[in-house]
Amino acid sequence: MSFVRDGNVLDGSAVSDHVRGQLRDSVDALADAGATPSLATVLMSTDPASETYVSMKQRACDDLGIESVHRELDADAPAAELFETVEELNADPDVNGILVQMPVPDHVDKRRVLRSIDPAKDVDGFHPENVGRLVAGDARFKPCTPHGVQLLLDAAGVDPAGKHAVVVGRSDIVGKPMTNLLIQKDAGGNATVTVCHSRTDDVGAHTRQADIVIAAAGVPELVDGEMLSAGTTVVDVGVNRVDADNEKGYELVGDVDFESAKEVAGLVTPVPGGVGPMTITMLLYNTVKATSQQVDVPVDLPDTGSLGQEA
Ligand code: NAP
Repeated sequence: MSFVRDGNVLDGSAVSDHVRGQLRDSVDALADAGATPSLATVLMSTDPASETYVSMKQRACDDLGIESVHRELDADAPAAELFETVEELNADPDVNGILVQMPVPDHVDKRRVLRSIDPAKDVDGFHPENVGRLVAGDARFKPCTPHGVQLLLDAAGVDPAGKHAVVVGRSDIVGKPMTNLLIQKDAGGNATVTVCHSRTDDVGAHTRQADIVIAAAGVPELVDGEMLSAGTTVVDVGVNRVDADNEKGYELVGDVDFESAKEVAGLVTPVPGGVGPMTITMLLYNTVKATSQQVDVPVDLPDTGSLGQEA
């Protein structure tokens, strides 16, 4: 099955549909064993984008047969209310996964929120215990966006082993876990990794030496064709709103200048329709995995190596 269209565009929506099809079988198997997976989402924000993300996640759960529970708190509610909500969900045996939508308001300690979620239900994979396990090569839940990138590479037949990967960005949710996944002595890893960030002198000097570039800087069209060598695999994680002369007044662009990158790259992911759909898919994956672990019913899960094909 090919996930590549227009010569070198790696279609994240197609990979995502394929993986969700496999996950549906796992959800059915769990339901047959009397354990329908359930994801709790917690929203404490006035940011319309956060509301949209949460409703997209709930819709994706519904489509796959995963139950979703939603808790919404006023953005100016005391922080204690959020911690009580998380405690209640931690204790609820009918809830398998918990996601607190970030960002939380300034008066709430974000790190304490991450620590408050039961690590066995932490489907974002941001609890320090789960971060530690990932670094130690014993991941319980791989964070959704970098895990999605790993499966995208696999679907395109790009094995990072022995290749030079350049990750642009070092955030806790994308750049650092991406780097950790790529250096693991494991399938989908074994790469030689360079990490660039805002203090890197001449990002292009690094990306031009890369076999794989993963752009996660949050800077519109930061990486263009002149910063790439011929044949490089380019994965664009960025989602940036820029002003546009259309009805909405804006459009979404990535961290890669798609048109010039497409001329040079061996493969390039689009925005939208690249990494974005995979992020939600891997949240569903982690919810299924959490359920399987909690009820002790093993299920097959698609993972690196299972999608692979010769590029
Ligand atoms: P973030 O927390 O703002 O981190 C951005 C990282 O990029 C930081 O490490 C920063 O360096 C680095 N950076 C900023 N400007 C740079 C430059 N000019 N050159 C090199 N590095 C630079 O962002 P994030 O949460 O990782 O997200 C990154 C992008 O991915 C955003 O556009 C976000 O919307 C998108 N995203 C998409 C998905 C998805 O599902 N598609 C999921 C998550 C995030 P410092 O550390 O030095 O500040």
